[in-house]
Amino acid sequence: MTHSQFRALQDWVGQLQRILQWEAEHDFVNSRGHSGYFAEVVAQGLAEAPLTTLRNSDTCAELRDGFSAYSTWPLQQRRQWVVRTRQWLHHQRLHYQVQATAPSPDRSPPGAQPPLAQVEGIGPRLAAKLMGAGLRTVEDLLRHYPRDYIDYSRLLRIRALRPGETVTVVGTVRRSHAFVSSRNHNLAILELQLQDSTGRLRVTRFYAGRRFTSPRWLQRQRRLFPPGATVAASGLVKAGPYGPSLKDPLLEVLDSGAVTTTASSGRRILPVYPPTDGLSAESLRRAVQAVLPMADRQQDHLTEPWRQRFGVIPLAEAFTTIHQPPSEAARQAARHRLVFDEFLDLQLGLLRRRQRQRAQAMADLPMAPMAGTSDLVTAFLALLPFQLTSAQERVLQQVRKDLQVTAPMGRLVQGDVGSGKTVVAIIALLEVIAAGGQGALMAPTEVLAAQHYHKLCTWMVQLHVPVALLTGSTPERQRQAVLRDLETGAVKLVVGTHALLEEPVTFFRLGLVVIDEQHRFGVHQRSRLLNKGEAPHLLTMTATPIPRTLALSIHGDLEVSQIDELPPGRQPVTTTILTPGEREQAYGAIRTVASHGERAYVILPLVDESDKLKLRSAVQEHQRLARTVFPNLNVVLLHGRLTSGSKQDVLEAFVSGKAQVLVSTTVVEVGMDVPDATVMVIEHAERFGLAQLHQLRGRIGRGQAPSRCFLVSESQQAVARQRLEVLTRSRDGFEIAEMDLRFRGPGQVLGTRQSGLPDLALASLTSDGTVLEKARDAAKLLLKEDPQLRTVPQLRARLDAQNKRLASASRLN
Ligand code: ADP
Ligand code: MG
Repeated sequence: MTHSQFRALQDWVGQLQRILQWEAEHDFVNSRGHSGYFAEVVAQGLAEAPLTTLRNSDTCAELRDGFSAYSTWPLQQRRQWVVRTRQWLHHQRLHYQVQATAPSPDRSPPGAQPPLAQVEGIGPRLAAKLMGAGLRTVEDLLRHYPRDYIDYSRLLRIRALRPGETVTVVGTVRRSHAFVSSRNHNLAILELQLQDSTGRLRVTRFYAGRRFTSPRWLQRQRRLFPPGATVAASGLVKAGPYGPSLKDPLLEVLDSGAVTTTASSGRRILPVYPPTDGLSAESLRRAVQAVLPMADRQQDHLTEPWRQRFGVIPLAEAFTTIHQPPSEAARQAARHRLVFDEFLDLQLGLLRRRQRQRAQAMADLPMAPMAGTSDLVTAFLALLPFQLTSAQERVLQQVRKDLQVTAPMGRLVQGDVGSGKTVVAIIALLEVIAAGGQGALMAPTEVLAAQHYHKLCTWMVQLHVPVALLTGSTPERQRQAVLRDLETGAVKLVVGTHALLEEPVTFFRLGLVVIDEQHRFGVHQRSRLLNKGEAPHLLTMTATPIPRTLALSIHGDLEVSQIDELPPGRQPVTTTILTPGEREQAYGAIRTVASHGERAYVILPLVDESDKLKLRSAVQEHQRLARTVFPNLNVVLLHGRLTSGSKQDVLEAFVSGKAQVLVSTTVVEVGMDVPDATVMVIEHAERFGLAQLHQLRGRIGRGQAPSRCFLVSESQQAVARQRLEVLTRSRDGFEIAEMDLRFRGPGQVLGTRQSGLPDLALASLTSDGTVLEKARDAAKLLLKEDPQLRTVPQLRARLDAQNKRLASASRLN
C-alpha cells in the first residue's frame, strides 16, 4: 500500500468516526445532518471505502446492511452497531498502517524468524494466504491461539445425544445440501447429515438475507462441506421426527476429506482455530504445526528470575502447549502464562502512563492550600442548603490530598445516582480556581452540559467566578469569544461536551479537568485530553459501577474513590411493574402528584415511528398524553432531535413547574436533576438494561416527597419479567449491575466501553480476574524494583511499541 493510499484510508476512517461519534453523543437517535439521516450517511460512507478489498469485505457488507435497518432498532442494538462499526474501522486503520510502514528490523531479528514462505511445510502459496489473513510472521502464527479444543477421548457419540443438551459432536458428512427456501426467497438453508460409528444426525443452519441466496454463496457452502469431510458441530440438541437434530449450530470443518489427514489422526486433543478468511481449517493447523518447532527460538521477555517470582512457565513451553496440549492441566498452565502476559502488558502500560503524567506535570500546577479550605470554597459551602454527607467529606479529603502535591491527580469517583458527585466536583474545581488555575467540566451530552452550566451560574455569580458554556452547537461568534476568554484566563470555569476536546482550545492555566458520567466517554477521549500537553489534575465521575476487572483494565492508572452513601432524607423510590393494560394506575399517580405541584417523567425508548417494533413514537405519545390523558396538564416533549434552543425551553418549563409532565427519550438518562419530579413511567422497560433503568429511576426520589417508578412492559417472557423484578427489590447499583451482567452477558453490558479496551487475544475480563490481580501486582513490583525496565529490555521494547500504537489510536478515536 502506498503512502497516499493510506492517507486516503485514514481520511475516510476519520470522517466516518466523527459521524459515528456524533451519533453516540446524541443518544443514537439517528440524527439528521446536512446530507441526510445518520444511518444513510454511514451506509453510503461504507460503500465508498477507498480500497476495493474493504468495499468487498463481508464485514463491510454486513455493517452496511445493518445501517439500513438501524432506524427500526431499539437503542441497545443501535449502540452496539455503532460500537462495532467504530471498532472495525479502527482495526482497518491499524491493519493498513502496519502494511504502509516498512517492516522494522527489530520486529524480526535475523535468524530468529525466517519468512513464513521459507518455513518447511508452509511454502510460498500457503504463506501468501496466511499473509492475506494477517498472519505474517512465525510469532503471528504462534500467537494465533486455538479457539477451542476437541478432546476425542471425551467426545460425545451421536447415539448418546439427549434433547436439551448443548454438545459438540464430530462426524463425517454423509450428505450435504445448500438451497434457497421455497417459501422464503431471502432464506438460505444448509442441511448436513453427519455420521459417526454410532449413528446419524441431521444438522440444519439457516441464513437470512439476500447475500446468502446468491448461487455463488450456495456453491461455496457445498464446497465447504463436501461429503467425506469431518465436521464438528456445537449446539443444542432437539428432538425431531427423524431422531435428534442440531439447529443452527456452530460448524467447523476439521478435515475436508479431500486430503488424507495426518495432523489430526492419532492425537487425542485437537485444536480448533478461529475461522479465517480464505484459509481452510486444515491449512491453518498445518501452518501452526510447521512453526511449533521454532517456538523456543522466540525470546522470552521475562527472565528466569522474574518467571520464578511470578510463577509462570517459559514462553516457548506455553506456545507449544497451547497448540498441542498433552493434558488439561498443561493447557491451563500454558494459558495462564499467556493471559498473564496480556494483562501484564496492559497494566505496565497503564502504570507507566501514570508515571509519565506525573513526570510531565504542569510547571506550576495549581495546588490546594495545605490546611483548611480556601475562602472561595468556604463561601460556596455557605451557599449550599445542606451539609455534606460523610461519604462526600471522605472523598473530598482524598481529592484534596491529591491536589496538595505537585503531581497531577488521576482519580475516579464512583457513586450511585443521586449520591451527590457534582458537589464534590465543584468543590475541587473551586479549590483549583482559588489557587489561580482554570477548571473544565465535561459532560457527555449537551443537555447535561447545559444543566450543569445553569446550576453553576446561580452559584458562580454569587462567588464572582466567571463561567462559560461550550458545546458543539454554541454559535460561532460566541464560541470565538469563549475561546478567547479561556486563553486570556478571563473565564475561570468552562462547562462543555466533547467540543472541549476539539482542536483549538487553549487555556491560560488549566488546572483541573472533571469528566462527568465518564462511562459515556471513550477512554481514548480521556487520553486525548491528557495528551493535550502538560497534564492537569483529572477527576472522573461515574454512576455506573463496573466489575473490578474492568475497572482495573480501563482505569488502572486512576485511583478510585467511592461515595457509598445517599444524602439523608432521600425517599426510597417504590418500583412497580405494569402491563400495558394497567397503565392507568401510573396515569392516576401522575394526576395526583401534579395537583401537589410535583412533576413526572414519561420515558420512551425511541424517537421515530417504527411500525415493525410497534413502538409508540415519542411524538405520537406526547400528543396522545397531552390531548386525551392529561388535557388539564402541560405536557412537554424532549428528544435528541430538538435543537439545543428548544431543548433548553423544554427543560426550563419542566424545572420551573410550568410543565408538569416531561415526555422524553433517554436523553434524561444522565444527570438530570429536578427534585420536584416524583413519578416516572418507563415504557417498554424490557428494552433497557437494568443499570440504565436504575440510572433513569435515579432522576426521581431526589426531593423530600416519596417517589414512584412504573415500569411498563409488554413482554410475556418470564426472563424479561425476572430481570425487571430485580429493580423492584434492589436499590443497590452494584448489585443491579452484577445482575445485569448475569442476565445479559458481558458483551452487551460492556457495549460502548469496550472501545476503550486493548485487544486481548486470550484473556477474559469476566473470568480471569485473579490472573489480572496477579499481573497488576507483578507490574507494580517490576516498576518498583526496576523503574526503567532494564532487566527486561524486550518487554520494554514491546511496551514502547504498544504505546506508540495507542497514541495514534487515541487521535483517531
Ligand atoms: P449524582 O451523584 O447523581 O451526580 P447530584 O450531584 O446530581 O448526584 O446530586 C443529586 C442531588 O442531591 C442534587 O440536587 C444535589 O444538590 C443534592 N445533594 C448533593 N449532596 C447533598 C447532601 N449532602 N445533602 C442533601 N442533598 C444533597
Ligand atoms: Mg451527576
